[in-house]
Amino acid sequence: MKQTSPNIRKGCQSTFWKDGVSLPLIDLSAVSFLYNGTIKALSDINISVSEGDFLVILGPNGSGKTTLLGIMSGVLKPSGGRALLEGKAFSSLDRKEIARTIAYVPQHIQVDFPFTVREVVLMGRFAHLKGLGIEGKADMEIADEAMEMTGVAHLADRLIHQLSGGERQRVFIAQAITAEPKILMLDEPISSLDIKYQSQMMKLAQSLNNKGITIVATIHDLNYAGMYAKNIILLKKGIISASGAPKDMLNRDIIRQVFDVEVTTIERDNGSAPFIFAQ
Ligand code: ADP
Repeated sequence: MKQTSPNIRKGCQSTFWKDGVSLPLIDLSAVSFLYNGTIKALSDINISVSEGDFLVILGPNGSGKTTLLGIMSGVLKPSGGRALLEGKAFSSLDRKEIARTIAYVPQHIQVDFPFTVREVVLMGRFAHLKGLGIEGKADMEIADEAMEMTGVAHLADRLIHQLSGGERQRVFIAQAITAEPKILMLDEPISSLDIKYQSQMMKLAQSLNNKGITIVATIHDLNYAGMYAKNIILLKKGIISASGAPKDMLNRDIIRQVFDVEVTTIERDNGSAPFIFAQ
């Protein structure tokens, strides 16, 4: 498949301006990434994410999705090319500056420390704390609201390492929301959740997006991607195979070429991306 030019700006409002020019929130050009200087995980990645986007990154296992989120959140430094956050190189920004803009929830978080859920969620406020770094009443209220939104308020006084994987995942999403980020980055946010919380989590991401938070997420479920994404990037072997609106990306040909699987598609009445089933 030919690499299509990324068109992530389509249908999005870009509200970040510099010298009269509108800039994307995140801008990657010709980015490559090698692990240990030898294992090529990403090549020639060109992406610009505008404010208000709901971008879903899809691709087979090992295609580079997590690595790409690492670059887009400033956790990983590109081996080649340029990665900008609001027009500035990630490498020129300190951790607190990045954390005031991006909240990143990784797929696996090591939790062997005896903090309560409320304490973990409050840690999301660190980039906003001044002076002695002690949380105030307003910080507590923001944390309480985030716990309500993610359905973990009843677990507030429980110890984090004694929760199930799905409960923990929701706690770390609450922590990310508490940071009040411009961009919420989620690596497989529904992978450990049951059907009820999968649907709630996607609806929560959509409602945050409706409030103006830009969402960048990797998920494996093509149907959720079709229902919620405004734009989709399909990665294969570290290269962008295709990108654009879900209804243009989620078709049998593209899915066959990217995932190497035959699927059946069923059109939806509302003209959005079809339902997809593996054959
Ligand atoms: P995905 O998220 O799509 O499953 P990853 O970004 O995790 O893909 O991995 C992309 C490629 O980089 C894979 O070939 C994987 O084996 C390799 N890789 C990932 N993490 C490491 C690492 N820490 N060290 C070496 N290779 C890695």
